Amino acid sequence: MKNFDVIIVGAGTAGLMLARELGKAQKKTLVLDRKKHLLDFSFNTLASFINLEDFNLSDNVVAQKINKVTFYSNKVKSSLKADLYTLDKKKVHEELLEAINNEFVTFQLNTNIKSITADDNQNFTTVVDQSKTEYTAKVFVDASGTNGVLSKKVGLIPKKTQLATGVEYNVKYKGNLKEIFLLIGEMYQGGYGWIFPLQNDRAIIGFGTFDENIVKDLKNRLHQILEIPMIKNLVEKDNDKVEGGSIPITPVLEKFVVQNLVCVGDSVSQVNPIVGEGYKFIFESAIMASKAIIKTLESENLNDLKEYELLWKNRFSENYKRSKRSQERFFKYSQNNFVMDFIVFLSKLIPSKRSVRSLSGEYGLEEK
Ligand SMILES: Cc1cc2nc3c(=O)[nH]c(=O)nc-3n(C[C@H](O)[C@H](O)[C@H](O)COP(=O)(O)OP(=O)(O)OC[C@H]3O[C@@H](n4cnc5c(N)ncnc54)[C@H](O)[C@@H]3O)c2cc1C
Repeated sequence: MKNFDVIIVGAGTAGLMLARELGKAQKKTLVLDRKKHLLDFSFNTLASFINLEDFNLSDNVVAQKINKVTFYSNKVKSSLKADLYTLDKKKVHEELLEAINNEFVTFQLNTNIKSITADDNQNFTTVVDQSKTEYTAKVFVDASGTNGVLSKKVGLIPKKTQLATGVEYNVKYKGNLKEIFLLIGEMYQGGYGWIFPLQNDRAIIGFGTFDENIVKDLKNRLHQILEIPMIKNLVEKDNDKVEGGSIPITPVLEKFVVQNLVCVGDSVSQVNPIVGEGYKFIFESAIMASKAIIKTLESENLNDLKEYELLWKNRFSENYKRSKRSQERFFKYSQNNFVMDFIVFLSKLIPSKRSVRSLSGEYGLEEK
C-alpha cells in the first residue's frame, strides 16, 4: 500500500475543500469515501451568505441570487435587505472536484472506513475499511460529516450526538424569486421552516427542528405547513420526492486535533449554530486546517497542527458561543406564537445591517 502524506476520510464539503488546498500545495493525498457516486446527495440546495470569490467559486454554482429575507411568524411579517444565494450543491461540488490537482490527489470510493489504529506513542498509523484493508499516511483527516467515524472514536465528539433534522420538497413557486422566507413560531416547534427560491419558478420548501420528539413526525409537519394559506398562495407541491438530512448540535467545540488526526466539518459540529449554515464556515475551517497540515508536513513538527485550533478559536469561538446562546433562546421562544410575533415585530426596529450580520452567523464579529 502506497504511503500518503494525508488521508482524508469523506469527500463532502470539508473533504473536497481540504483536498483542493492540499493538492495545490502538492501534498500526496488520498480521499476515501463510502459513497459509490460523489454527486449523490440527500438534499440538493443550500442557502448561503458565502462570498464565492473568497473560496474561488464561480457564479455557475448559484441557483438564485437573493436580495431580501422575510421572517414570517403567525401574524407578523418583517423583511430585510440582504445579499445571499441559494446554491446548487451539485455544481458547488463539481467545481471543487474540477479544481483538484489529480496529480497529487487520489480518490477511492466505495470505501467505508471503520477504524483507526495507533502505535505505542499514540500516533495514528492506519485507517481500516470494511474489508480490513489498511491505508497509511502521516496525517489523517476526519471529514466524514455527522458520521464522525474518527472524531467519535477519539472522543472529540460524543458517540450519540444530538441532531437537528430537516425535510424538504422541491415545489412550484409563485413568489418573488429574489426573496427567501424563514418561517417561525409554534407551528415549527423548536425549529423553523424555509422557502429557498430556485430558477424556473421553482423553490425548496423545508422544515427542520432541534426537537428530537418532532423528528419522527417531520414529513407530516411539512404537509401541515403546506396547508397554511399564505404558504398555499406561494407554493404548489407537484411531486413526492422528500429530501433532507441532519446536522449535529453540540455545545461549541474547540478541540479538533488529536496527535496526527485533524477533524473538520460536521464531524466536529462546525456548522454555525444560528441558522445551521455549514458551507461558509466549514470551507473556512477546512482552509485553516489545510494550512496547519501543510506546515506540519514541512516542519515535521506535529505541534504545528494545533495552529488550526488556534486560528479557529480566534476567528470563531466567541461568535459561535453567542450564536449558540441565540439558538437556545430561539428554541425556547419559538414555541410561543405571541412571543415570536412580538420578536418579529421588534426586529423591524433593528438596523438591517446588524440583523444581516447576526443572521449570516457573523454574530458579534467586526465587519471585515
Ligand atoms: C437538510 C439540510 C439542510 C442544510 N442546509 C444548509 C444550508 O442551507 N446552507 C448551509 O451552508 N449548510 C446547510 N446544511 C449544512 C451543510 O450541508 C453541512 O454542514 C455540510 O455539508 C457538512 O459538510 P461535511 O464535509 O462535514 O460533511 P458531508 O458534506 O456530509 O460529507 C461527509 C462525507 O463523508 C462520507 N463518509 C461518512 N462516513 C464515512 C466513512 N465511514 N468512510 C468513508 N466516507 C464516509 C460521506 O459519504 C460524505 O461524502 C444543511 C444540512 C442539512 C442536513
